[in-house]
Amino acid sequence: MEKDENRLTEHFRMEEFVYSAMAVEFGLDNSLPLGVMPAIRNLTVRLLEPLRVYHRQSMYITSGYRSEELNRLVGGSPNSQHMRGEAVDIYVLDRYRLLEDLVGSRLNFD
Ligand SMILES: [Zn+2]
Repeated sequence: MEKDENRLTEHFRMEEFVYSAMAVEFGLDNSLPLGVMPAIRNLTVRLLEPLRVYHRQSMYITSGYRSEELNRLVGGSPNSQHMRGEAVDIYVLDRYRLLEDLVGSRLNFD
């Protein structure tokens, strides 16, 4: 594994949780508050990475961290876990297989 501050696990990088096409388009600052990092690290190490390994196919983060402003813009719920780094939306090629793998892996998620 390369030594890289941005890398969280083998398959995920911090910047994937921060990047938002909407934020770029609307000129919003969606940079990560330091306080949110532990939650993202936790989510990635305990759920996303093990799930990625079990799934054995690419997973793309479509929405990770959202500032309050960004969350409002995308119509997220006012109390969205995305604002606390506790939720992530992902895109996979086969979402039925991902659902099977979520169950099969016995990982804890909601
Ligand atoms: Zn979400």
